[in-house]
Amino acid sequence: MADAADLETNTRAATEHLARFASTPTHHLIAGESVPSADGATFENVSPIDAMRLGDVSSGDAADVDRAAAAAADAFREWSTTPGVKRKAILHDVADLIEERAQQISVVESVDTGQAIRFMSAAAVRGAANFRFFADQAPGAADGQSLPTDTHINYTTRKPIGPVGVITPWNTPFMLSTWKIAPALAAGCTVVHKPAEWSPLTAHLLAETALDAGLPPGVLNVVHGLGETAGKSLTEHPAIQAVAFVGESHTGSLIQAQGAPTLKRVHFELGGKNPVVVFDDADLDRAMDAVIFMIFSLNGERCTSSSRVLVQSSIYDEFTARLAERIRSIPVGHPLDPATVIGPLIHPNHCAKVRSYLDQAATEGATVHRGTEMVDAPSTNFVAPALFTGANNEMRISQEEIFGPVLTAIPFEDEAEAIALANDVDYGLAGYLWTGDVGRAHRVADALDAGMIWVNSQNVRHLPTPFGGTKRSGIGRDGGDWSFDFYMETKNISVALGDHLIPKLDA
Ligand code: NAD
Repeated sequence: MADAADLETNTRAATEHLARFASTPTHHLIAGESVPSADGATFENVSPIDAMRLGDVSSGDAADVDRAAAAAADAFREWSTTPGVKRKAILHDVADLIEERAQQISVVESVDTGQAIRFMSAAAVRGAANFRFFADQAPGAADGQSLPTDTHINYTTRKPIGPVGVITPWNTPFMLSTWKIAPALAAGCTVVHKPAEWSPLTAHLLAETALDAGLPPGVLNVVHGLGETAGKSLTEHPAIQAVAFVGESHTGSLIQAQGAPTLKRVHFELGGKNPVVVFDDADLDRAMDAVIFMIFSLNGERCTSSSRVLVQSSIYDEFTARLAERIRSIPVGHPLDPATVIGPLIHPNHCAKVRSYLDQAATEGATVHRGTEMVDAPSTNFVAPALFTGANNEMRISQEEIFGPVLTAIPFEDEAEAIALANDVDYGLAGYLWTGDVGRAHRVADALDAGMIWVNSQNVRHLPTPFGGTKRSGIGRDGGDWSFDFYMETKNISVALGDHLIPKLDA
């Protein structure tokens, strides 16, 4: 976590950087130009902190997506043939400028999403790191394999697939967008980005920063708007060759259907109900810190959050009692205050959903710790961290993604039961496990049905490693070369080395 300035300094910075969004509508960015919707439609963007109006945002539909897709297709001709070393240099320039503007990006993100500044400062810098990592891969992105036989030399190359659509959610929009957009651009693709309507501002800052850093117009375009209109049109557009989507599992299935008539390649990073399994031989102090960090950072609005803690029965009562005590002192408050851990949830509708699980837990017979406490705050979007004890894995609080600062604690007897409970959900994004037994660590890691497992660790990302989930958590992997596989087409070229036998079919 980066050091953050105090509340007063952050508030001053936010006021300064948000003024432009309040005074002038945030339009689409197409071919390097800020353009309103063809029909002039806008929607109002408000802050989750206090429902303060942040400004109007253009609301796109099919006509605007068509214009952006045409711009991306035009720009693709030149960008896809720009040498990798040149793309690398430009993307490093983008990273430099993101770092320069990191304070602006982080305060705007914090006010637009409600995420605490202590995490958003780090997220802005991580966005720059994503650009740098993929920039460095650009010169080798087209490299392939040599697969010779006695008669032929076969070699593969990779080509950028074309203009692609990137559709992102509201939880940590800036960082997540860079995670998708940077590899697409490094591969030589051009992009039409449709950010989430509840947190549209940093998408604009990202595209503007990229343009200012020298990314050619049309290479990265942004169309704002609702999922059912702008998002849907993007997934249906014939010029868009692939869609990288981060969001809910249900939306992923809609997008798969919408993209089917044009045979879209899709990459999905979807929901999660990730287990953290704590055995009684673990370093329990470290396990406890990690459990708390992985569910209560980022407001619990985090796909890889450890939202189910499975605790061995022999230590369940003591471990959960300590957890209940620890969460009492997690600070909930204004997201621009560097002391805050949990800020307001993104939207009253999402807040109502999260609160409904507090009622659900009581109905299902679990005990609710802290979550129902009233928070002294400027709106009702603030939810205190919650722990559910006395839960079992069949309850809805154990099966459904709540996407808030809410943790369900479930006991297990032995390794076999831990694995069975951990896997008994529709999702399979991440799994965490804590044990002092190295053999068990490997056995359980192998048996957990999830795309990513962390052993005796919270979620520590290493960008060359694959990121993605199984079951309803997604399709495909990001990170390292996996990202390039998605954004590029592999071609095999086979050249005869001599006069191999060609069958003659005529008599
Ligand atoms: P969402 O699915 O409601 O919306 C995500 C995006 O999809 C938004 O931009 C929205 O406008 C757009 N959209 C909605 N309907 C669409 C349609 N029919 N066609 C095209 N686009 C459409 O998700 P959300 O509520 O914004 O985000 C929270 C979800 O995102 C959670 O489920 C969370 O787990 C998931 N998430 C997953 C990851 C991951 O890496 N697996 C990361 C972050 C968030």
